[in-house]
Amino acid sequence: TTRAFHDYPRFSKALAVSGGGLLTYYGTKLFLCSDSSLKDDRKRVIVLGTGWAGTSFLKNLDSTQYDVQVISPRNYFAFTPLLPSVTVGTVEARSIVEPIRNIIKKKAGNVGFLEAECYKIDAKNKKVHCRSSQKAGSEGKEEFIVDYDYLVVAMGARANTFNTPGVEEHTHFLKEIEDAQNIRRNVIDCFEKANLPNLSDEERKNNLHFVVVGGGPTGVEFAAELHDFIDEDLSKLYPTVKDYVKITLLEAADHILNMFDKRITTFAEEKFQRDGIDVKLGSMVVNVSDKTISTKERSTGEVHHVPYGMVVWSTGIGTRPVITNFMKEIGQANRRVLATDEWLRVDGCDNIYALGDCATINQRKVMDDIAAIFKKADKDNSGTITVAKLQEVIEDICERYPQVKLYMKNKHMKNIVALLEDSKGDDNKESKELDIERLKTALSAVDSQMKNLPATAQVAAQQGQYLAKCFNRMKECDQNPEGPLRIRDEGRHRFRPFRYRHLGQFAPLGGEQTAAQLPGDWVSIGHSSQWLWYSVYASKQVSWRNRLLVISDWGRRFVHGRDSSRL
Ligand code: FAD
Repeated sequence: TTRAFHDYPRFSKALAVSGGGLLTYYGTKLFLCSDSSLKDDRKRVIVLGTGWAGTSFLKNLDSTQYDVQVISPRNYFAFTPLLPSVTVGTVEARSIVEPIRNIIKKKAGNVGFLEAECYKIDAKNKKVHCRSSQKAGSEGKEEFIVDYDYLVVAMGARANTFNTPGVEEHTHFLKEIEDAQNIRRNVIDCFEKANLPNLSDEERKNNLHFVVVGGGPTGVEFAAELHDFIDEDLSKLYPTVKDYVKITLLEAADHILNMFDKRITTFAEEKFQRDGIDVKLGSMVVNVSDKTISTKERSTGEVHHVPYGMVVWSTGIGTRPVITNFMKEIGQANRRVLATDEWLRVDGCDNIYALGDCATINQRKVMDDIAAIFKKADKDNSGTITVAKLQEVIEDICERYPQVKLYMKNKHMKNIVALLEDSKGDDNKESKELDIERLKTALSAVDSQMKNLPATAQVAAQQGQYLAKCFNRMKECDQNPEGPLRIRDEGRHRFRPFRYRHLGQFAPLGGEQTAAQLPGDWVSIGHSSQWLWYSVYASKQVSWRNRLLVISDWGRRFVHGRDSSRL
């Protein structure tokens, strides 16, 4: 017991000061780390996760106002956009990680870190149950419970296998630093193995068949990095086996990079074809064994079994079990992702916020509210509304939901605007009746545009920053609320809702060429975008140490090539 509390000095200090707090044993080792008598006036904020969302929240939070405890199984922040570069040694793993304690060190006030994973969120009692990844003595893992006043859930997501048999066991994910390091080792393994004597040509070919599943930005970037690594470095080091190498990119949809502009998709597909990367579209993986990967062709229904040397699985993200269990407890079992409102508060929970990949803003609720406004306006239940009333309703909606105002300009609002336009020139336009169902259909098109924020670092970082700013101004905004009018309660919301600002996205395609899609659908592809990519990613590093390391890795790669040692 004593030893465990030494591991958490802030708690032991609090115990000493208060003359003894509540300490409980559950089973072997489970500590209740705090109770209300141990706290000073400051509210305790628990941050779960040290990824993009959690770190951005932490960096922007005025930590003098709160008692902050960060909990994560990973004691560092990782710059994920450069993970594909780590898989082949274009940059080194340590260059893109920043110890979380370096970030905490720069914060004033009371900020602590516990290296542990949260396995249960108890919203009713405002506690999180955690398990340390460190072994405590010989008795296994340490478990403990931490109280919170505010909980910030930023646990990210896990790789989604779509329950495809064999994926967990036989493929590599590309999500964490360790994944990238394992892939790097495995690529070299495949080459060393193929180079051994006594292998048939067929065996060499199979060993050097690299399969990438998923034609999204991550899969495409990995395939491009791997191609460059083999083309620029490994083919010189393994000249006898280089002709056996094959890279296959499998995509279930009709095109790769289908969230990008058509010009980028076409350019990428043509470039990969020139590079000899075999892009198989409409090809769904149905099984992976230790030696073969089975795919089903969408057009013909044929199933192929293809031998491979290594498979990298990159088909999107799924919900972590701890979040799934939490969702069941709070009545969100029917949803796929944890739902929050536009202030990032988890639906149905007081003082719990969720951001980044583990949550999504429930725009359905916004649309329900809008429908309620229409219903109120249609007093006689006629299913129609006058133009004059519609204008009033729209003003009301825009006042409460500023984002709708934004979408008034959007093409999906054309129907509504057209209805208003239609009535122009009509002498009696103020009293012209409009069909509410048609208006609702137009609004549901807006809904589908609004609800899908992409699961990206950009969104996560902006949400972290937004939430920290809200926390910093909690007292001020309690007195002078600055948000829009509430629909169900009186008065205004405390804060303005979260608004995402899209800054554009990149898709590196190898050979010093990158595709960039910037706001306003401005597209740039080629070498100049590659330099833009270098500058943006260098500038976005979280510390000067990372920036210098990443830039020097790029320089080293230009001069000496990538390191092919199997470490
Ligand atoms: P994460 O960054 O994944 O962080 C989650 C944190 O929670 C981690 O610290 C984790 O250790 C911790 N955690 C996990 N389980 C628990 C638990 N039980 N208890 C406590 N803590 C826990 N986005 C872009 O915008 N641009 C890109 O170019 C880009 N490239 C990418 C390339 C790759 C290879 C990958 C994998 C992702 C890329 N993304 C990119 C997406 C981006 O990384 C994610 O959207 C972003 O990381 C989400 O941030 P997050 O904080 O929600 O989750």
